[in-house]
Amino acid sequence: MISHRFNNIKKTGLTASVHEDDARKIMVVNSFSFLTALLCTFCGISLSVISGDWLIFYTAMGFVCGFLSILWLNEKRRFAIAKFGLQFVFCSVMLYYGCVFGESTQVHFLGLFLIGVPLLICSRKENALRCLCLTLPLLTLFLLETNYYYQVFTPMDMDRNTTYMFRWLIMTVVVILNFMVITFHQHNINSLLKRLHRRNDSLRKRNEMVQRQEDALKEANRRLENYNEMLEREVEQRTRQLMDNNLVQEKMLTDLNTSLRRLKAKEDELNEYVASLETVKAELLHARDEAERANAAKSSFLRELSHEIRNPLNAIIGISYLMLNDRHTHGELPPGVVNYIENISTSGHNLLEIINNVLELARIEAGKTDNICQEPFVLRDWIYNIAGIYQHAAKVKNVSIHVQVDHKLPAQLLGDRVHLTQVVNNLLTNAIKFTPAGKKVTLSCFRQGAEAWCIRVTDEGEGIPGEKQALIFKPFEQADHTIHQRFGGTGLGLAISKRFTELLGGRISVWSEPGAGTAFTVTLPLLQVNKTLSRAAATVMPANTEKAPVQTGKKILLMEDSTVNQMVMQEFFSYMGLPLLIAGNGEEGLEMARKHLPDMIILDMHMPKLDGRDVIRAIRQDTLLQHVPVIVISADAFTEQREQVLREGVHEYLIKPVQFDELRMVIDKYLHSSMLNESLEAVTC
Ligand code: ADP
Repeated sequence: MISHRFNNIKKTGLTASVHEDDARKIMVVNSFSFLTALLCTFCGISLSVISGDWLIFYTAMGFVCGFLSILWLNEKRRFAIAKFGLQFVFCSVMLYYGCVFGESTQVHFLGLFLIGVPLLICSRKENALRCLCLTLPLLTLFLLETNYYYQVFTPMDMDRNTTYMFRWLIMTVVVILNFMVITFHQHNINSLLKRLHRRNDSLRKRNEMVQRQEDALKEANRRLENYNEMLEREVEQRTRQLMDNNLVQEKMLTDLNTSLRRLKAKEDELNEYVASLETVKAELLHARDEAERANAAKSSFLRELSHEIRNPLNAIIGISYLMLNDRHTHGELPPGVVNYIENISTSGHNLLEIINNVLELARIEAGKTDNICQEPFVLRDWIYNIAGIYQHAAKVKNVSIHVQVDHKLPAQLLGDRVHLTQVVNNLLTNAIKFTPAGKKVTLSCFRQGAEAWCIRVTDEGEGIPGEKQALIFKPFEQADHTIHQRFGGTGLGLAISKRFTELLGGRISVWSEPGAGTAFTVTLPLLQVNKTLSRAAATVMPANTEKAPVQTGKKILLMEDSTVNQMVMQEFFSYMGLPLLIAGNGEEGLEMARKHLPDMIILDMHMPKLDGRDVIRAIRQDTLLQHVPVIVISADAFTEQREQVLREGVHEYLIKPVQFDELRMVIDKYLHSSMLNESLEAVTC
């Protein structure tokens, strides 16, 4: 309780904002003020009692008030004034009691205590105050000593015992006060030591931390140095690489420059070459234009030539055919004349074959690829029909033609009948030509595996030597030079046949043994027909081994400007037993057609006044005539001419010189079908 009260007194005037050192000094001031006030009260009472002089007590109470006013000053936070005040009150006490009690009471010993007090209560910052506070006791001691010498104030009279009691009491107070100063100093020193220890600890810790940081820094430094070294090495290496690269690049640049120079030189050369090529190209283009012009001129010439030759040939072959087939004249002619006529006929056919082959070759050379037209056909009818056409030529040579069709082959096949017919025609013509009298030629069709079929023409002729067998498929090549002298021919037939076969996706091969005979085999892909042909489509001209039956009661109109051809046709139709109406041009022909309403119209393409094409269009637009079958017999033998006319809507296109067997079959086909139609119409009516 007391210590708590004392603590509160000690802390008079202290706030949280006061620094620890200052606070300690203020607490020393408070403690001194309070304890000295108590001591002063005690001494005042004691001395008054001892001396019996109560003035001492009242004076002591005045000093007590002075000490307590120090507490009041601290309370008012007048710390510096309070410190000076404390020293001042102490000095006043020393001066008063020193003067009053005299030197024998040893009051001046209090000066020792007072010299120690400023060191305790003033901080180093308060140097002036400290000096003032130190000066005060020295001044007081000086005044006291002066008073002792000069006796300005005479001390009070005291007996020896009182003096000793005073002396001992004052000495005790001085000792207590000195003890207090020493205690406070010791306390200060202890707290200073503690603070020093604390500071030392914190310094040590700081030192350790600094040490650790230094170590870390050293480590970081070491790493940095390593990294630096590594970087330097890397930079060095990179620099070396860059230098190497630089060297390589420089070399590449040099090479590139050299290459560029070479390229430039090459470019110049190339430019020169291109320029020369341009010149050559221009020359070539010119040459090509020239060649195309020449080719066009050649084609036009060939067309004209073919057309011009075919008309007289038509008369030659037609008349010789009629003479040989006319029963009445045939019997009356002497055998020598018949022989002549047969020779005329054979020569006519040979000439026809030459013209056909030359035209075909001209087409091939002109680069005209033939359009392949795959259509269904009845195999047997087709093959027997071809054989039938050649029967007459074979008979004239006393050569027999045998036909064999493999039963494993389907009845109907898909193929280009026109091209196939041309191939077989060439092979049969050769076989009959090279086979001596009394021997036979075999035309056979057979299956080869699941996907191919073959047409083979075998003869018993003189054969072809082995070394010539590859040669004969080239244009204008014959087995030897005597062939032309003995058999004529151009050497074109096999070349054209090979070309057509390949166009149809097949191949042609030859087997021959000199003296034994020759066999040509055409192998083709087997294309089957999915659905069965209709009756009309399947109707193929029958083989003409015997003469077809004559269609009586039918009218046929012929439009033809050539009088020779008119005469030949007139003869042919009278021989057939059919009345023939003849018109000399298209205009007249159309009038006659409208007037007589014929069952069939046969016309030439080149006629005066109205040509064949106009006549066909007029017929197709005429309601009375549009159903009438129209057969064109023309000397225009080129495929495109034929196809163009067929597109106009004609039924058949025959090329001059007309093959009468073929014409017979065509007439029979269309008159027969029209008869069929009539009978069908009659039944439905
Ligand atoms: P051409 O019969 O007009 O001479 P081809 O091209 O048809 O022309 O035939 C070329 C040659 O092949 C003939 O000249 C002939 O020497 C030879 N040749 C063709 N077929 C037979 C055959 N059946 N027998 C013998 N030789 C043939």
